[in-house]
Amino acid sequence: KDRKGNTQGQEDQDKEYVGFATLPNQVHRKTVKKGFTFTLIVAGESGLGKSTLINSLFLTDLYKDRKVPNAEERINQTVDIVKHTISIEEKGIKLRLSIIDTPGFGDAVNNTESWKQIEDYIDQQFEQYFRDESGLNRRNIQDNRVHCCLYFISPFGHGLRPLDVECMKALHEKVNIVPILAKADSLTQAEVFRKKMKIREDIKHFGINVYQFPECDSDEDEDFKKQDQILKDSIPFAVIGSNVQVESKGRKFRGRIYPWGVVEVENPAHSDFLLLRNMLVRTHMQDLKDVTRETHYENYRAQCIQNMTRMVVQERKRRKMKRYTSLTHSVISSLTKLRRMQEVLERIQEQMQHSQRGGY
Ligand code: GDP
Repeated sequence: KDRKGNTQGQEDQDKEYVGFATLPNQVHRKTVKKGFTFTLIVAGESGLGKSTLINSLFLTDLYKDRKVPNAEERINQTVDIVKHTISIEEKGIKLRLSIIDTPGFGDAVNNTESWKQIEDYIDQQFEQYFRDESGLNRRNIQDNRVHCCLYFISPFGHGLRPLDVECMKALHEKVNIVPILAKADSLTQAEVFRKKMKIREDIKHFGINVYQFPECDSDEDEDFKKQDQILKDSIPFAVIGSNVQVESKGRKFRGRIYPWGVVEVENPAHSDFLLLRNMLVRTHMQDLKDVTRETHYENYRAQCIQNMTRMVVQERKRRKMKRYTSLTHSVISSLTKLRRMQEVLERIQEQMQHSQRGGY
């Protein structure tokens, strides 16, 4: 109670409200109405289970019409860029999810620069956004910028292969790379642990900047902090994918049946699949978008503006030089004319003197 004997609750009720307490609701309603978009690119050697994992992650069948090329077709294959878009709705919230697939990656005999198409695709989306943003119709911009790249690493190698290193280095300044250790069911627990360590070492050794999870706020509760640490320690996510539902012990789940047992895709003891899905969808989707906008796109934009400024300065210099050259030319031609006139004058003078002398 205060000095007048009012209770705190009474005082709150008596207070006049301007109404800005509804701001979060207004923002929420507007964003929900607009819907959310998220664009994900998958990269890595074919056969590592990329399509299967995407289907498992978003509970869809995105690859119904897929045609896998034979060995002959793959010898000189270039990387294709295929975009699949699906709209998912959950509790009234709409999400337009775009998955960019890169069939043919690492398939050809010579794979130098096979990441070039991926790099170009990411740049093109930035370029389009930059144009739209600087254009007239800024209200209805379609944002196709790539927010995340799931990079699949083979479970059969020893850490990163040269192609992985080159590709990640070509992309790490342009997109949030999330490394994935594919087909984790082909490894024992100890092997998963060792491979993860080796991949983390390689990432550090080759100076690759993979997506960094944001620091956890100090006022978050202990449980949240623990989950956050588990997530950070799990990189690269060791995943298992499956397109089929398995029935075992009265339960139905996505899994893989082997002669010696069944692996469950969503069982945390079997793989990091759930951690990855929660990270992508529940906890870090917005951060991935923010980093794309604030870091990767900003870098691109700054670079563009720098190049444009450089071009303007060069053009100005060129014009100045042109003007100077044409001025020099006209001065030279005037001087030449003068010189010629002077010569003519001298000749006339000479002739006059000659004829005067002849007159005597
Ligand atoms: P992509 O070429 O990278 O898209 O690979 P696919 O998704 O087409 O998978 C290639 C093969 O690997 C298929 O036979 C899948 O059934 C199998 N596969 C996919 N995910 C896994 C997995 O997590 N573990 C195992 N052992 N096999 C998988």
